Amino acid sequence: MNDVLLKATVPGIRAFAAITTNLVEDARQRHNCYPTAIAALGRTMTGALLLAANLKTEESITIRVTGDGPLEEIVVDADNHGNVRGYVNNPQTHLPLKNEKLDVGGAIGKGHIHVTRFTGLKAPFTGSIELVSGEIAEDIAQYLLFSEQTPSTIILGVKVQPDLTVTAAGGMLIQALPDAEEEIIEKIENNISQLPSITAMLEAGLDAQGMIEKAFAGLPILYGGETPLKFQCRCSRDRVEKMLISLGEEELINLLNEQKAEIKCHFCSQFYHFNQNELDALLQEVRRMQKTL
Ligand SMILES: [Zn+2]
Repeated sequence: MNDVLLKATVPGIRAFAAITTNLVEDARQRHNCYPTAIAALGRTMTGALLLAANLKTEESITIRVTGDGPLEEIVVDADNHGNVRGYVNNPQTHLPLKNEKLDVGGAIGKGHIHVTRFTGLKAPFTGSIELVSGEIAEDIAQYLLFSEQTPSTIILGVKVQPDLTVTAAGGMLIQALPDAEEEIIEKIENNISQLPSITAMLEAGLDAQGMIEKAFAGLPILYGGETPLKFQCRCSRDRVEKMLISLGEEELINLLNEQKAEIKCHFCSQFYHFNQNELDALLQEVRRMQKTL
């Protein structure tokens, strides 16, 4: 099944369903994540894509989760074109199962969730709240209620097999708009209370539309567009070169003395290698810039 995000509405309520199995597996391979770590990162990536679906065209969002547990920090960027990237500080984290589930809350611990919205026009806006459980879904829902006063239900799931591969990942975000009627809200709440887990629905072969049909059962559903989703980083050799130049002459001379440099992108684990000649060219560039200042 392809990774997609589908929008749908019923009167007064909007919903987004995301299937993220392939991009979460992509992240697991890039960062060599253990099960608890990829469950935490996968839930956060899926949650960020669901939040980003509400953004305007050129906007993007960053979710940062910081806690006192072994994962320490998760950082995820997503935009509303379906691109997401992310990392976790300690990807080789795995805790014993809790109630037969991956213990994401235990791996994150007590801490905060920070959500930054980049509009491209005004200064970015960051809202932060204390984590409710560290299980991610509840924490994002609480953030939406506190920061944006939007009552939201969010469900997220990542299934990891004993061989460490991710075989199902996805989520749903359901939001009541100010004009939502109580009767419809109650019907949806009732539907959601009977909903199997996201991963159970995916394993049963449901697609994004199938998940929305379950949540909105018995209501007239209007479907919006479907967006393909993928793990996509924004790093490039050009950006890494600019970063090296910004380090300045002294730091570049240090790297030159080591004869090579290997720079790894945090977000996607891509390596950028620079040999002596390439580093020397960057050093000349720094010196040229200094002369023109
Ligand atoms: Zn990258």
